[in-house]
Amino acid sequence: MPFKPVENPKCPKCGKSVYAAEERVAGGLKWHKMCFKCGLCGKLLDSTNCSEHEGELFCKICHARKFGPKGYGFGGGAGALSMDTGSHLEGSSS
Ligand SMILES: [Zn+2]
Ligand SMILES: [Zn+2]
Repeated sequence: MPFKPVENPKCPKCGKSVYAAEERVAGGLKWHKMCFKCGLCGKLLDSTNCSEHEGELFCKICHARKFGPKGYGFGGGAGALSMDTGSHLEGSSS
């Protein structure tokens, strides 16, 4: 039987082998240092500000924008909430 060469993990981004010297790990996958960037804004990431989602990488901001709760941090509804003081709920018991 021929010797089976050690298989380097493949980068999910470009599909090429990732060597230890250039690897970044997220979501159990190994990425090239240069491929370890946000799929939306292209920002280079590190292990502290990355979010992996189904084999794609995003920065925390883009991840929240794309997959987060609706309107999270983007103004939809925040203004309406601050205008509701709840006064209509008071005084009705007397
Ligand atoms: Zn790559
Ligand atoms: Zn981003």
